Amino acid sequence: MTGIDDLPIRDELRGKSPYGAPQLDVPVRLNTNENPYPLPEPLVRRIGERVTEAARELNRYPDRDAVELRTELARYLSRTGGHTVTKEQVWAANGSNEVIQQLLQTFGGPDRTALGFEPSYSMHGLISRGTGTGWISGPRADDFTLDVEAAKAAIAAHRPDVLFICSPNNPTGTAVEADTVLALYEAAQAAAPGPAGALVVLDEAYGEFSHRPSLLPLIEGRPNLVVSRTMSKAFGAAGLRLGYLAADPAVVDAVQLVRLPYHLSSVTQATALAALEHTDTLLKYVEQLKTERDRLVTELRTIGCEVTPSDANFVQFGRFEDSHAAWQAILDQGVLVRDNGVPGWLRVTAGTPAENDAFLDAVRAVLKESK
Ligand code: PMP
Repeated sequence: MTGIDDLPIRDELRGKSPYGAPQLDVPVRLNTNENPYPLPEPLVRRIGERVTEAARELNRYPDRDAVELRTELARYLSRTGGHTVTKEQVWAANGSNEVIQQLLQTFGGPDRTALGFEPSYSMHGLISRGTGTGWISGPRADDFTLDVEAAKAAIAAHRPDVLFICSPNNPTGTAVEADTVLALYEAAQAAAPGPAGALVVLDEAYGEFSHRPSLLPLIEGRPNLVVSRTMSKAFGAAGLRLGYLAADPAVVDAVQLVRLPYHLSSVTQATALAALEHTDTLLKYVEQLKTERDRLVTELRTIGCEVTPSDANFVQFGRFEDSHAAWQAILDQGVLVRDNGVPGWLRVTAGTPAENDAFLDAVRAVLKESK
């Protein structure tokens, strides 16, 4: 049988595994940081209307520049991000994964490197490799926060072309302060191998769940800073595949050089526009999830777990001598959480109150058995 490695694939892809959390059919799935609430019925109906309209014109290519959608995303960011942005500063793609891919195709690539502080979102490294960008793993402190001095030292030593800062960070849930972003931005510009500096990508996929305000205002006057966002989490629309960025208009112009023409289908644009009409309702679910996230933190501590403070819609908990065995034991109780390979720790996504109760019961049972 022919295997991948028998094919003439690129050397750097040999022996690698594709990204993917197990999609298992269990009663309680809290492993992929999805929003547990289905879209409300009035929104589902509105999507039907918008998509029907779009269907009448499916013989035509979509708006290549997604102008209406970018206008509405800019309005949303201006309303909630503490900083006014225009559609010229916003770009959208099929999930923030594609946003990140377009950024790396534009600012990374062969002979260039990207640096991120791990453990963090593993796709930063995987998309780097996929775009031929060298990946450098930067350090985190033992409590998973960023140690600014150690981070600056890594930047000075490796001089990356692209720097990833994930806040709130997946899988740890930790967020960074504006001061830290500014210090690392300056360090990246000072160390950059080229005269135009280094691109800093602030991944705020979980921004809406944070206790702190968005770091969006930092893009003002910093053309090499990009904030990346998604509708997969706060908008409860992981199936939609809609991510976006906010940055200087020049960054938006630059990604045009690599984006595929008509990358965002008319159906996607219509659906995202319908969801944006229902922003207020969807943000109420975010508030409920934040409350549940805080409850998970408190109750896990009461049970006797160690918990990393979380600004996201998930919580990192431990510590387990054998975290994979603990993952399996929780799964045996019907609850799927995530083993991200961080030794001693697991991650649970905040679900509905009933799902979270089931999860907490499962952890209690597992801890009791192990005593
Ligand atoms: N960034 C981070 C930190 C994430 O955790 C995720 C999804 N797990 C993404 C980006 C990508 O999300 P999407 O492509 O669904 O927008």
